Amino acid sequence: MATERTFSIIKPDATRRNLTGAINAVIEKAGLRIVAQRRILMTQAEAKIFYAVHKERPFYGELVEMMSSAPVVVQVLEGDNAIAKYREVMGATNPANAAEGTIRKSFALSMGENSVHGSDSPDNAAAEIAQFFCGNDIVG
Ligand code: ATP
Ligand code: MG
Repeated sequence: MATERTFSIIKPDATRRNLTGAINAVIEKAGLRIVAQRRILMTQAEAKIFYAVHKERPFYGELVEMMSSAPVVVQVLEGDNAIAKYREVMGATNPANAAEGTIRKSFALSMGENSVHGSDSPDNAAAEIAQFFCGNDIVG
């Protein structure tokens, strides 16, 4: 299995409830390494670029508003098969459908306030990491 990197965001609903450490513990317990991490206040412009794939969706405005409403923690996670593994660890987008033990099952409030983001493909992981981190910021 190849070592991969994926991009993660601990979203505003989670930072607001002081859940950064609890979520990081789930990530690390799953065998993923946090090789870069920064707490930021995402601007609306950054959120719009980040979620541009969803710009035609009815929830886009709400999503951009939510992502810039409070601090987020942007992260690079590394491990075997990290992209698919982190999607598994996060659980389904809608927490009502998320499996037991997943981050979204344990912590998410709703479909919109679902605590974490994770890249869904190698191309998106590379683009998302590059939006928030320089090479020197990532120490594996
Ligand atoms: P993410 O991209 O954040 O990791 P995801 O890949 O599981 O989540 P997407 O379909 O890419 O889900 O949707 C991106 C985000 O948009 C979701 O995580 C959620 O916060 C929000 N979202 C998706 N669908 C809805 C909806 N129907 N109503 C409100 N918000 C939604
Ligand atoms: Mg997505």
